[in-house]
Amino acid sequence: MKFNEQIKDIKTYEAGKPIELVVREFGIEPKDIVKLASNENPNGCSLKVQKAVVDIVAKMALYPDDSMMNLKSGLSKRFQVEDENIIIGSGSDQIIEFLIHAKANSNSKILMNSITFAMYEIYAKHVGAEILRTTGVEHDLDKFYKIYKEEKPSIIFLCTPNNPTGDAIDAKALFDFIKKIDDDTLVVVDGAYMEYALVKDASKYVKPKDLLKEFSNTIYLGTFSKAYGLGGMRVGYGVGDAKIIKELYKLRPPFNITTLSLEAATIALEDEEFVENSIVDNFKEMKRYEEFAKEQKIDIIESYTNFVTLCLNSNQKSSQIATALLQRGMIVRDLSGYGMNAIRVTVGTTEQNSKFFALTSEIL
Ligand SMILES: *Cc1c(COP(=O)(O)O)cnc(C)c1O
Repeated sequence: MKFNEQIKDIKTYEAGKPIELVVREFGIEPKDIVKLASNENPNGCSLKVQKAVVDIVAKMALYPDDSMMNLKSGLSKRFQVEDENIIIGSGSDQIIEFLIHAKANSNSKILMNSITFAMYEIYAKHVGAEILRTTGVEHDLDKFYKIYKEEKPSIIFLCTPNNPTGDAIDAKALFDFIKKIDDDTLVVVDGAYMEYALVKDASKYVKPKDLLKEFSNTIYLGTFSKAYGLGGMRVGYGVGDAKIIKELYKLRPPFNITTLSLEAATIALEDEEFVENSIVDNFKEMKRYEEFAKEQKIDIIESYTNFVTLCLNSNQKSSQIATALLQRGMIVRDLSGYGMNAIRVTVGTTEQNSKFFALTSEIL
């Protein structure tokens, strides 16, 4: 059977290896496996969420509230925007899909950082769009602008803080950059880790409301999968001009969020203390990674997220180290597929991190 030509070369997205797979492949007990591969919150999620979802289970026979009223009202209050400025997706991944399908086709170009979130490329290929990338590791907005001028892309992705490198764009520089972009080019600011950046360095914080106030061609993306500890619930959101949101709605399947997920995200949004504590713990533990890197004489990229990127020396191969860790029950991300000799490690609990340091120094 023949399938669409444009999906022929798509490399299937490889998610962080699930614990279940390591149990099966290496015969390691689940309790001895540590997963630091997908930037999940090691503190789990708010206890309030865990209590609330129990009651929802009784409502499973009914379709969810497709207007998503409660979650939308929580988000619009949090971000001080109107409901019409918000769309909710099955993870912010789904909003990325809507954006690309709404705006790009096989004649379009999509501009992104040299090294960035893999799903931008995968969805771009769905529609046969051409992918343009900058060079270097961190976002360099001068390079973005130069390519923008020459190539006139229809979408520009700015991932800040960036996954998988952890660096962040200065907020003022980001606003100055978007000011120079014409109204017909869609700018996507992916803030999946923005909660962390806000705590570490407010000059990196991009406020969705400020973007909305200044730009009608920009959408901000957020997610409940990282700081809120709800990766398994699959809830993300977009905040932008009502005209953009209206177009995205045309592509949205009905009931794209489950009743359980809606309730979990709504309650999670109210428990600010849980998120704050998680972020404080995160940066406390991240210091230990910085010390570890210094001891081992490896480079670490300054991170505004809940993960660190360890750039290995040329005599250490990231794929081999990731495999050796896996055989010992420690799941991390090898970044050789991104052209980097590096591993990305989610900052875990104190105990999980200690285990990472012990195993890695043994391997190195
Ligand atoms: C995790 C992540 C997302 C989306 O995650 P969802 O679970 O689909 O909400 C989007 N962008 C980046 C950069 C991420 O790291």
